[in-house]
Parts: sequence; C-alpha cells; structure tokens
Amino acid sequence: MKDEALQAIYDAILRRDPGEDEFHQAVSEVLDSIAVVLRERPELADERLIERLCEPERQLVFRVAWEDDEGAVQVNRGFRVEFNGALGPYKGGLRFHRTVKLGTMKFLGFEQTFKNAITGLGIGGAKGGSDFDPRGRSDREIMRFCQAFMTELYRHLGEHTDVPAGDIGVGARELGYLFGQYKRITNRYEAGVLTGKGIGWGGSHVRKEATGYGLVYFVREMLARRGEGLEGKKCVLSGSGNVALYAIEKLHSLGAKVVACSDSDGTVHDRDGIDLALLKQIKEVERGRVRDYAERRGAEYLEGQRPWAIRGHIALPCATQNELDVDDVAKLVENGCKVVAEGANMPVTPRAIDLLHEEQVDFGPGKAANAGGVATSALEMQQNARREVWTFGDTEAHLAQIMKDIHATCAKTAEAFGAPDDYVLGANAAGFIRVAETMRALGVV
Ligand code: GLU
Repeated sequence: MKDEALQAIYDAILRRDPGEDEFHQAVSEVLDSIAVVLRERPELADERLIERLCEPERQLVFRVAWEDDEGAVQVNRGFRVEFNGALGPYKGGLRFHRTVKLGTMKFLGFEQTFKNAITGLGIGGAKGGSDFDPRGRSDREIMRFCQAFMTELYRHLGEHTDVPAGDIGVGARELGYLFGQYKRITNRYEAGVLTGKGIGWGGSHVRKEATGYGLVYFVREMLARRGEGLEGKKCVLSGSGNVALYAIEKLHSLGAKVVACSDSDGTVHDRDGIDLALLKQIKEVERGRVRDYAERRGAEYLEGQRPWAIRGHIALPCATQNELDVDDVAKLVENGCKVVAEGANMPVTPRAIDLLHEEQVDFGPGKAANAGGVATSALEMQQNARREVWTFGDTEAHLAQIMKDIHATCAKTAEAFGAPDDYVLGANAAGFIRVAETMRALGVV
C-alpha cells in the first residue's frame, strides 16, 4: 500500500484478525483505491472513520443443530455479519457452503457494503450463511437445517433491521423454508424480511434473473464505451448456478454466444453455444451437474478444469471467489479476450486484476457488475412495503436503468480521479464516498 496511514490501518487489521485471508484481500483492494480519494477529501478519514468502516457493526456466530434422515444429530456453524448499516437495513445474502467461515462472511459483508452503496438505493451491507454442505442432502434435510438456522437468526432480522436473501447454496427452496420458519416463530407475515421469495408469496419478478441480467447490462455499457455491441460476441463463463444461467439467457437474447460454463467438478465446452433449456432442466429441475449436460448434449467435458483456456471475446467468472488467477489471464489474453466482468464476488485475484489492467483488458469488478441482484432485492422490498406486484417488464426496466446508472457512476468517478479506464477505482471510490459521507452525518457510532 502506498499510503502510510492506510498501511498502518491495514497492518492493525492483519494483527487483529489473523487468518482471515479473504477479508484482508477485500480490505486491501478498497484501501488501495481510496488513497486518491483521501488526498482530495481528507476529512473522510476523520474520527477514525476508516477503522470504523473496516470493523463490522455486529458479528453473530451461532450453533445450528439438526437431525439428518438417519436420525443422527448434525452440528453446523451459522453466521450473520451485519457489516455497515449507515445507508439502510443490513442487506445481503446467505451462503451455504462447506468452505464458509467467519473470514468469508466478513469479506462478503464488506464487499456488500460498497456494492449496495453504488446502487444508489437505501440498503446497508451484510452477509450470512453456514458451513452446511447442501450437496447430497434430501429436501427434508434441507428443510430441517433451514428451520434450525432460522430458529436462531430470526431474532436479529426484520424488514427495517436486517433483510437476508440467497447466495451460493441458497435459492427459492431454502428461502421458502427460512421464511416459513420465520413466520411460524414470529406469528407475523412480514414479507419484507427476506428477498428472493417466490412470486406467489411476496417475491419480485426478475429477482431470480437479476444478477445475471444485470451483469450483461453492465458488460453492454462497457462495450458501448469502446463503440462495440454484444451481437456476435463469443463468451466463456464459469459457474452454472443462478448467476450463470441468467447471464447466458440475456447474452443469447442480445445476440452473443456462450460456449462454456462449469461447476466445481469441471467445464463443458459446447462449440454450438450452450443449450440453455437443457442446462436449466439439469441444474434447476434435476439439480444435476454440467457433466450430465455434456453427456446428453454430446459436448466436450473437461474434468477438473476451469473455462479460461477456451477462446472468447468476453469472460465472465460467475462461480466463486479467487477462481481466476494470473495464469488464467495470460491464457485469456492469448486467446483475444477483451472484456472480463465479475458475476461472482471477488472471483478475480488481485494479481490477475493488475495483469488485466496492464494488458488493457476492460475489467468490471463485482461490486458494480453483479449489483443487479441486490438492487432488485431492494425493488422487492419496495414492492413489499407498498403491497404491490410490479410486472416483469416494469421491474426489468428498473434494473436496466440501475445498471446503466451504476456504470455511469463508476466511469465518472474513475475519470474524476484521473484513471478513466479503472472501474475498480471507480466502484470503490464511489461506494466509499457515499458510505463515508453518511457515516460522518450520523456521528461517531
Ligand atoms: N447474494 C447476492 C449478492 O452477492 C444478493 C444479495 C441480496 O439480494 O441481498 O449481492
């Protein structure tokens, strides 16, 4: 870090929170970006604002005990990190994945604070989840786990307090079980306490599609700046969950062709373009793997590999953190890749981001590029508060405008600080300025 004061703050975090590598990574990226902001606006660091910003307002860690189908008791760990509530109720998803630990939740809650800020909407940042591994678990086991999880978490939630949603391992099924338990315990039909709900019970149209669609809208803006469009562009993306599926849907509808996607076991390379109906059937209905897709479609399957060696103009990492490193960037560049944008949270490593910038590949960071999901969650909260249901078309028009605005905010902010092509700087600086100004207005809390 070039700035000494920021380096001292960062060193203190390393000492105080040892072993939380992902959190350190997320903090270091933001502190790097805001050094230029603080040179012009030193008052934003007054009253230990940066130290307060890097310390979660509240961290909840709790035991989740539940019974599996054999009647054996299982013990997991639950988390909710309410990172920053300056801009509104804590907002952010729940992740159920075996790798989840406190440092993961802190990195995601920290990122979410800035992401939510640049949507321009009134939502604070949070993240939660568990080290529960849903793979291979029956529906009933998932239900009992979700009920046990909510039996502790419910006391910390509320439509004006903290509003979770989905993330990896948490979709409509899990949100249904979580909402059912919340309603049972509290005796309140408080639709606005969770987002990502089913359409019949308080959910919003386009929420399911929002992160993927929003990502593509963001990429469209990035391309437009170069005087290009999506028509005819070849794309490779990782993942095959909610973000990936709906990014593929929007890319195909706008004339691009996605030739690769993946899961944690391997990659499918489908030269004719991914058959989305088949992929949705396998992933959303059968809860299967991309290997099944490759077999049924007769496409190439690359066991244990990620898609970054496959040729494409646009690469969209939509799986998980740190899934695209420097070697991958070298391959992408060699294959003519011109645009990389993050559908997942922090999928590109810091060294890989530096190399992308060096190679003049346009890079859209997740805080901006994947903000469409949480932005549409905020639209769901608006509908819940007004007891309204907007049409698919109206909601999508809102989302498209929000993504356009986010892109413009990042580009304008980056330009104002003398680095017009640096969306990382633009996103971090714009998010920071909004949160920091608000924290100053709210006093030392
Ligand atoms: N988990 C999503 C994200 O990373 C969505 C959060 C939400 O809708 O609250 O932004």
